[in-house]
Amino acid sequence: MAGIYLHIPFCSKACHYCNFHFSTSLHRLPEVLQALEAEIIQPWWPPDYVPQRRIESIYFGGGTPSLLSPAQLGILLQRMRERYEVAPTAEITLEANPDDVSPQRLEAWLQLGINRLSMGVQSFFDDDLRWMNRAHDARQALNSLSLLRTAGFQNFSIDLIYGLPGTTHQRWLQNLHLAMEAQVPHLSCYALTVEPRTALDVMIKRQKARAPDDAVQQQQLDLLMDTAATYGYDHYEISNLALPGLHSRHNSSYWQGLPYYGFGPSAHSYDGQHTRWWNVANNSLYLQWAQQPHLRIQHEVLSPVQQLNEAIMTGLRTSQGITLQPAQLLVAGRLYPAAQWPALQQNSCW
Ligand code: SF4
Repeated sequence: MAGIYLHIPFCSKACHYCNFHFSTSLHRLPEVLQALEAEIIQPWWPPDYVPQRRIESIYFGGGTPSLLSPAQLGILLQRMRERYEVAPTAEITLEANPDDVSPQRLEAWLQLGINRLSMGVQSFFDDDLRWMNRAHDARQALNSLSLLRTAGFQNFSIDLIYGLPGTTHQRWLQNLHLAMEAQVPHLSCYALTVEPRTALDVMIKRQKARAPDDAVQQQQLDLLMDTAATYGYDHYEISNLALPGLHSRHNSSYWQGLPYYGFGPSAHSYDGQHTRWWNVANNSLYLQWAQQPHLRIQHEVLSPVQQLNEAIMTGLRTSQGITLQPAQLLVAGRLYPAAQWPALQQNSCW
């Protein structure tokens, strides 16, 4: 079983902290969607690679895929269903921003078969949202939650960010209580990070903003863990929490080392064993690549040590962790036999 990730590289506004690949200029959107459609139909695999055809999860990420019209999303889904065997029970997630949510859109998304939403809420407070330069306000964030419940979405997630400079523990707790009292099925909670060349990075260097404080972030992570336990959430990955049975199947497949195929600018793919390949993170170059992808696709082949190190690193992010046994190591249900250990012992990580 494999997953598909589609990267929609457009946003209505640039959030100050964000270093994902996106453009706020939408004039190339139709061209990029056409290239994306073509890439799904005729993928740019590394030579000799035979992918799995049965698909268990599809994830529209970005960028802001909720900017697309239902018709545009429908064409992409149709192409995937033509090219792959998408399981009838597949988890199909759409990342959405609260300002794009309306009863009509929710209804259309459900009709397309989208059965999970991941909402970029980040905070329920206007001054936090302004500081982050988000496109929505607190009223829209709250309203979107009630709209999607009313529309019939049972499975959805919201993103929240903690450790903003100047916000108090009290404010973070209020955000958590709002989400958890509402029994939001899944939460992705990220510590604010300062990524190079983002607006936030520049503001901090020019002393127009304060940098996040590591100690405060640690305390807010502790508050998150305590509060989640009180409300019955399973903190199953360092940044992800779910009510019972509502883990993200797509994201869990990354942590389990399962194959995934990425389409669109900057999207990465992995064969579930040793080969990873990725698209250029630039819309103009992506459109050029679409003409001659076989000349440009970049890929890497992981050595056994790299494979195991990655499994350990991702395993340690999850509540399952890793299990050391006398003759083997168990990570995410996979056994790594002792025969591989001598190589590992030369590795400083081990
Ligand atoms: S909406 Fe999401 S992808 Fe777009 S700039 Fe903001 S955080 Fe980044």
